[in-house]
Amino acid sequence: MEPGKKAVFLDRDDTLIHNVPYLADPSKVDPIPGASEALQRLRDAGYLLFLFTNQSGIGRGYYQRADAEACNRETEKRLGLSPGFEGICIAPESPDDPEPVYRKPSPRYLEEMISLHGLDPEQVWMVGDKESDVEAGRRAGVNSARIGKSRDAEGDGVPTFASVLHFTDWLLALSGETTED
Ligand SMILES: [Mg+2]
Repeated sequence: MEPGKKAVFLDRDDTLIHNVPYLADPSKVDPIPGASEALQRLRDAGYLLFLFTNQSGIGRGYYQRADAEACNRETEKRLGLSPGFEGICIAPESPDDPEPVYRKPSPRYLEEMISLHGLDPEQVWMVGDKESDVEAGRRAGVNSARIGKSRDAEGDGVPTFASVLHFTDWLLALSGETTED
């Protein structure tokens, strides 16, 4: 049997690009230093890359899904990611939606992609700056990493990094030690 594939699911705002509240204008997409290099190195190491972003501005009626899609395309462009992400989930629900399907911490998108792409949960990471990112990974039974604080600042065993590039350095060093081929 073919071994399961490995993947990294990335939050967008304050993980890959600087957070702009209710971003709907592609000209305001501003990459975080090192994010482009991180994605390239992860892809080169064989990780499938997915974008998983909560966009409650859609559910609140502040902007349309097409605006979020335009910002995501600009994010891929500014990060030099070509071809783009293997998959993108824009979770449109507002926080007061009684039954959000995709809004993190829902693990739904992760679960769907694990099934669709034959991913190995032990080699899947959910990476983001919020507890809802960490929790989505936890609920899906994959690994989580936190961005934006010094490592393991929360003391909860979730590896924590100053940036997605620091995470990438750590992950690739780790897999270099444990990968047989
Ligand atoms: Mg974020």
